Amino acid sequence: MYTANPTRYDKMVYNHLGNSGLQLSALGLGLWHNFGSVDPYDNQRAIIQQAFDLGITYFDLANNYGPIPGSAEENFGHILATDLKPYRDEIVIASKAGYDMWPGPYGNWGSRKSIIASADQSLKRMGLDYVDIFYTHRPDPNTDVFETAQALDTLVRQGKALYVGISNYNGAQTEAIMKCFKELHTPFVIHQPRYNMFNRQPETDLFPVLKANHKAAVGFSSLCQGLLTDKYLNGIPENSRAASSNSPFLHPSQVEQTLKTVKALNEVAHARNQALAEMALAWNLRNPEMACVLIGASRPEQLLDNVKALDNLAFSDDELSEIDRILGE
Ligand code: NDP
Repeated sequence: MYTANPTRYDKMVYNHLGNSGLQLSALGLGLWHNFGSVDPYDNQRAIIQQAFDLGITYFDLANNYGPIPGSAEENFGHILATDLKPYRDEIVIASKAGYDMWPGPYGNWGSRKSIIASADQSLKRMGLDYVDIFYTHRPDPNTDVFETAQALDTLVRQGKALYVGISNYNGAQTEAIMKCFKELHTPFVIHQPRYNMFNRQPETDLFPVLKANHKAAVGFSSLCQGLLTDKYLNGIPENSRAASSNSPFLHPSQVEQTLKTVKALNEVAHARNQALAEMALAWNLRNPEMACVLIGASRPEQLLDNVKALDNLAFSDDELSEIDRILGE
């Protein structure tokens, strides 16, 4: 029987999502990797308990997370039922639709047909009546943006989602769908872009749009899948994502290509008395639009390390210039 840590709210930082009343913990747990049917269940349970014990209230899922697709939601549903049920009103659960999920023309992208069916499937897998946030996972070039917006709006009207979000939309696409949300009075509160030291495009393209509209972001791949930690400084460990065949998006060649930069960033982190992962997360959070940084974790200890980022969120101008210089090399 799990009982949550009574001091879980003492240290965590909570940020409002722009002008919304909803707050998220500054660190959120992502379930893209490590929560599938191929991953040890006891470890999944330990990671989720550790997250909640540290005051992490935001749990980020999607229909296709696994492998196999759907299994992360199923596993999360089991853990919710056994451990987190008494705490349902203390957590924010999000899911998404938009990437390949089931065969045929409706298991994908952003039509009303796909989004509503996918949300229903996600609720069933997690054993929930509603999710707190439901996202369109990516823009659909072949569906009118109003249709996608209206499908999300319907989920809210049906009581299946409290708020809606978008992910992987660029600045112009964000402006276009926000217009629809305004017209429909949809509670749109969050954008989920890829953002980390190696992926800075949102700074010029997206953040100005969010700022002008009082909206917030939750960044994904905040540690660039582990590259922005000290784990690859001396080669590729066996039990790492770069060494795993379940990780098609992190190739050993990326470790090699980034090593010189990562070593230089590691020096800056040490001068700040931080581990590189801590500095990388704090650096993401320096943007006022960034309400929350998502982290994947393959073991509970990584969460204990990563929350230390909150102990030093301030950067001097010299530190920021030095990081810019290293990243620009
Ligand atoms: P991260 O950049 O957070 O990478 C996670 C990996 O980094 C871990 O699995 C672990 O790797 C390593 N790591 C984490 N902490 C430490 C530490 N302290 N020391 C050493 N290594 C560490 O991002 P993800 O790409 O996994 O993304 C996080 C979440 O963002 C996802 O789970 C998902 O919810 C969301 N996401 C959303 C997308 C979208 O399109 N909306 C796309 C991608 C992600 P290892 O396994 O090697 O231990």
